[in-house]
Amino acid sequence: MTDTPRTFGQQLGRRSWAEPWKIKMVEPLVMTERPDRERALREAGHNTFLLRSRDVYIDLLTDSGTSAMSDRQWAGMMLGDEAYAGSENFFHLEDAIQRYYGYRHLVPTHQGRGAEHLLSRTVIRPGQYVPGNMYFTTTRLHQEMAGGIFTDVIVDEAHDPTHPGDFKGNVDLAKLDALLARVGAAGIAYVSLAATVNMAGGQPVSMANVRALRAWCDRHGVKLYLDATRAVENAFFIQEREAGYADRPVAAILKEFCSYTDGAWMSAKKDSLVNIGGWVAVNDFPLFEELRNLVVVFEGLHTYGGLAGRDMEAMAIGIAESVQDAHMRSRIGQVRYLGSLLQQWGIPMMEPIGGHAIFLDARRFYPQLAQDAFPAQTLAAELYLDSGIRAMERGIVSAGRDPRTGDHHRPQLELTRLTIPRRVYTQAHMDVIAESVKAVYDARERVRGLRMTYEPKYLRFFQARFEAL
Ligand SMILES: *Cc1c(COP(=O)(O)O)cnc(C)c1O
Repeated sequence: MTDTPRTFGQQLGRRSWAEPWKIKMVEPLVMTERPDRERALREAGHNTFLLRSRDVYIDLLTDSGTSAMSDRQWAGMMLGDEAYAGSENFFHLEDAIQRYYGYRHLVPTHQGRGAEHLLSRTVIRPGQYVPGNMYFTTTRLHQEMAGGIFTDVIVDEAHDPTHPGDFKGNVDLAKLDALLARVGAAGIAYVSLAATVNMAGGQPVSMANVRALRAWCDRHGVKLYLDATRAVENAFFIQEREAGYADRPVAAILKEFCSYTDGAWMSAKKDSLVNIGGWVAVNDFPLFEELRNLVVVFEGLHTYGGLAGRDMEAMAIGIAESVQDAHMRSRIGQVRYLGSLLQQWGIPMMEPIGGHAIFLDARRFYPQLAQDAFPAQTLAAELYLDSGIRAMERGIVSAGRDPRTGDHHRPQLELTRLTIPRRVYTQAHMDVIAESVKAVYDARERVRGLRMTYEPKYLRFFQARFEAL
C-alpha cells in the first residue's frame, strides 16, 4: 500500500494550491454506527436516494444544489426584491448571463429540468431526432416527452472507462453525418451538446469540437443548443489541455465556447454555486418570445421563473464567482486529489478523472456480478454500509428502459459516482472517503448484488427499491 500523498502539488512538481476561501460557519456532521446504517439502508430499499440525510455522514450523492454559498451570496439573499414582476434581481441575473455566457435573451426557471421542458416543447416536433453527446437523464426524458428521438453521437472512447482521451465528451461528426444521411436536416430538431458530459464521467468537449459543430450546423441549417450545466468546468479543461488557451482566463474561454451555440439551458445548482435555480437563454428573438410565453404556464412570470428574487441574486453573484480561475483550480483539484489516492491503490475508475466526480467502475470492481444484479447500485450500498458515505448509481438503473421495446437500456458504463459538492468538504474528508472505498474494494469478493423489487415509471433511479441477493 502506498502512502497517502499529503502534498499533492509536490507530486506534480509545483507548490501546493489551497482553496481561495476560508471557513466562516460550520455545519456539524452526524457520525453513524454500522447497525444504524444497516437499518437505514434496509428501510431505503438499498437506494441511496431514499436515505434520510440525517443518516448520512459524507454526502456525495450529487453536486446539485449542495454547494456552499459565499458570504457575498448570503448578503445578496438579503437584497431580494420580491416584487411579482420586474424584480431588480432578475436584471442582475440577466446582466450576469449576458456578461459571462454571452446569450442575449434570458428566461429563468426553477432548475435545469424546467428549462429543458420549455426548450424541448418549443423546438422539437414529434418524430424528430435529437442527437446528443451521450444522454442525461432529465434531458433525454424531456426530449422524449416532447416527441423527440434521442440519438447518441458522442465519440466511441467516451464509452470506454479506461481510454485516456483529453476530450472524451466530443461529438463524433461522422455519427452526425450518418444521422443526417438517414433522416435529413428536417428530421433533426437540433444538436444537443453537453459540456462537460455528466454521464461520461464529467469529460470535457474541446473548443475545436464545438467550432466544428457550429460549422456543421451552419452547413445543414441545424440549431446547436448547449447544456451549460458544467460549462465552466469544461472551460477549465480547455485552458489546461487545448493548445492556445493556457493563458486565457476561464471566463473568456467560457464565453467563446458559448458563442458557437444558438442558446443554452442551465442547472445553476451545479457550476453557479446556488442551492436552487436554472435558466434557458437564446439569441433568437422569436424563439425567446415563445419560451417567455411558455414559462408563465409552467414556472412563473418571465422575470422570476419559479424563483424568489433572492435566489436570482445569489445566482448572479454565484456565476461571477464560478468563473474565477482560482475557484476552478481548487474545485477540480479537490476531485483529482481524491482520484489520485484511489488510483494509487489500483481502484478501477473512469479515467481520465473528470470535473465534478470520481466515477468508480463497478464492472471491474465486481466482475462476478451480471449487469442485471446492478453492480453500481450494489457498490453505492456497500459504501454506505462501510462508512455512511452516500454515492449514486450511474449505470443500468439510471439508464432506464427503451420506450420502444420496454427492455432495459444496457449502458456500457456501469458506474458509481462519488460527486463532490463545491466548497463543502475538506481534504481530510477526501482521505476518509478514499479509505472507505479501499475497504469496500478489499471486501469485494463476497458481494452478490441486488434484485429490483419496485420500479417507478419515470426516472426510476430516484425511487426504485432493491433487496440483497
Ligand atoms: C443536473 C443536470 C440537469 C438537470 O438539472 P436540474 O437542476 O437537476 O433539474 C441537466 N443536465 C445536466 C448535465 C445535469 O447535470
